[in-house]
Amino acid sequence: MNYRRQCPSEMRRYSPELSGHSKAPPQRVADTDSKEVLSMKVSRPVAGLAPSPTMEGAKKAKAMQAEGKDVLSFAVGEPDFPTPDNIIAAAARAMDEQKTKYTDASGIAELKSAVCAATQRAIGVEYKNSEVCISNGAKHVLSNVFETLTDPGDQIIVLAPYWVTYPELIRLYGGVPIEIMTYAADDFQPDLDRVADAVTDRTVAICINSPNNPTGGMLTNESIEGLASIVTAHDLTLISDEIYKEIRFDGREYLSPASLPGMKDRTVIVDGVAKAYSMTGWRIGWSLAPEHFTKAVANLQSQQTSNPCSISQWASVEALNGPQDSVEQMRQEFEKRRDYIIPALQAIDGIECAMPGGAFYAFPDVSSFFGRTLKGMAITNSEDMSAYLLEHAWVSTVHGMAFGCEGFIRLSFACSMAQIEEGVSRIARALAGE
Ligand code: PMP
Ligand code: GLU
Repeated sequence: MNYRRQCPSEMRRYSPELSGHSKAPPQRVADTDSKEVLSMKVSRPVAGLAPSPTMEGAKKAKAMQAEGKDVLSFAVGEPDFPTPDNIIAAAARAMDEQKTKYTDASGIAELKSAVCAATQRAIGVEYKNSEVCISNGAKHVLSNVFETLTDPGDQIIVLAPYWVTYPELIRLYGGVPIEIMTYAADDFQPDLDRVADAVTDRTVAICINSPNNPTGGMLTNESIEGLASIVTAHDLTLISDEIYKEIRFDGREYLSPASLPGMKDRTVIVDGVAKAYSMTGWRIGWSLAPEHFTKAVANLQSQQTSNPCSISQWASVEALNGPQDSVEQMRQEFEKRRDYIIPALQAIDGIECAMPGGAFYAFPDVSSFFGRTLKGMAITNSEDMSAYLLEHAWVSTVHGMAFGCEGFIRLSFACSMAQIEEGVSRIARALAGE
């Protein structure tokens, strides 16, 4: 495309003075179609963003499948079940009824009420509609929450391994993620003294996710109570990503920090329909937080995106208010898959793998292979291991570094049992050098 013809001579070139960036040069993206080398400015925070490695892994697997390769994807955390029929029917009804217009930017009252009722059932905490903001998926909720919370230089403590998106978003909004590692040997429970020691006068929040992506670990009541005490003692906010709370194994109970005395006003819950109802593409999530914070989030959203899709909101009303049997059926299926995949991975020489308490991820430790060469490929880190498995076993995984945890790879077992059986046996053969 000839930008010169479209945008005549006054086309604005990057100027450090005009942009306010007087020190480092901007990232430039060359226009390769143009004879002249033009460059389009990309802001430093956005230029610093990496694409989501989970989404990239899935994209790469799909591209290889399109080339005719029988790649088994364990990359993306997306339930393989169809969205339940009653939810599809509710969406169809909403379309028939022409519910196709803008809604209130923060979502329809019916969905807010459904979220409040479902939350009360699940964690026993009462919320009002004015404490709910409906957004375009839990990822968008997190983006809103981090942006609303963060001034430049503010620190947010993130327990690692963490979901890929937290530190990226925190940095995008000028914040500083402070990672505190948790370990399989401790059942992925945080060392509370280390968390308390990490608090500075710039700390504004602690971000937790239980059940956890990528480990599947669940915080114990003791950990949650300990974190809540730190939050209270230092007047912080606790961001609790509860997107996997319906997917728990071995009859584990769920304790939300918001249900602890005095914690509702200090907690922002992040949740959504994607995982529990197999509705990843519908893009509905929500925050639950004190009214003034929710109003700020809603103002931000009203300027940035307006309401999430009206049809998806009506479908989500049915998801939360309608029959819940499919949630339990899917949960049971995930538990069956966990009971197969974890022992099967543990049986592979050189692999150690903790038993997840929830969600649908296996997070095996593959570090014993580092320093070895398999089929001519040197394995020095988890990224090499992931690349090796893709190339030699046609199995797509996500390397642990994406989650702030070198030495591990993540496999989503939200796929069929047949795929799990075949995938694990391919991994076993590839790691044996076969
Ligand atoms: N939080 C965690 C821990 C996740 O794994 C995901 C991925 N789905 C999200 C939030 C975002 O969910 P959504 O699809 O609703 O944006
Ligand atoms: N949360 C899922 C995962 O971790 C979906 C991918 C994404 O939203 O980045 O695989």
